[in-house]
Amino acid sequence: MVNITALLSTLITSNHILHYHNVLDAMGHVSVRNPNTNTTFFIALQLGPAVLSGREDIGEYNIADGSPLTGTVGGYAERYIHSEILKRYPDVNAVVHSHAEDVLPYTVLNVDVEPVYHMAGFLGGTVPNFDIEDTYFEDDPRDLLVNNPRLGAALAQTFGVNETQPTGPAHTTVLQRGHGFVTIAQTVEEVTDFAYYAASNARVQTNALLLKAAMGGGGNVKCLTQQERKDAANMNRWIAFKPWRQWVKEVERSGMYINELGTPPLDS
Ligand SMILES: [Zn+2]
Repeated sequence: MVNITALLSTLITSNHILHYHNVLDAMGHVSVRNPNTNTTFFIALQLGPAVLSGREDIGEYNIADGSPLTGTVGGYAERYIHSEILKRYPDVNAVVHSHAEDVLPYTVLNVDVEPVYHMAGFLGGTVPNFDIEDTYFEDDPRDLLVNNPRLGAALAQTFGVNETQPTGPAHTTVLQRGHGFVTIAQTVEEVTDFAYYAASNARVQTNALLLKAAMGGGGNVKCLTQQERKDAANMNRWIAFKPWRQWVKEVERSGMYINELGTPPLDS
């Protein structure tokens, strides 16, 4: 049995790290599958990532339909992003949904997100852009929120099917038009790394495109080749714990955040 207190401590600190690095603002969320049930997941209740601090701030929901377990009251309307992804992909254990401003321009422009440096190889061959308009029913409010299982399933489907592993996704990251992005991984530490570097890569790509335009459009933005993406993605997976250890210390020493469950394990 996995130590749930340690897992939730990790979840709390992930929220703090992603807030500290402007990947999450007052909105956005991180979830993790409950490995002891495999049928439920944990995610913060309706409060900002920076102020999440203890067990009572975290809800537990059924993966099957996003419904709360007894004792969980309230919560994010968008938890169906998480329930539907965790339901569709049994090997995915952690999900981040972010409104990061560095990424948002790519959700409304006809410019693909491409991995432009080695820490973003996990972005893979393509980063799809989910347009919720395509899935609305006539009576749905057009508020861009993924706030029911049907919309969550449509978003989850955008992650595709892995060529070599049919139960796995083809993509780690999907944009949401006019809203943000979602990234998925096997652990909270890894998904924190992916969310951080998705935003970081977007900043680098934007700067490269701006410099290119400032030079009169000359020169190419040379993105990672397909082979480089694969090899860098493998590297990203084993190196994720290195930045994680620093980020944990950063948020603890910043004095900005409280984690009542203590320092998360640093070497799992
Ligand atoms: Zn959102």
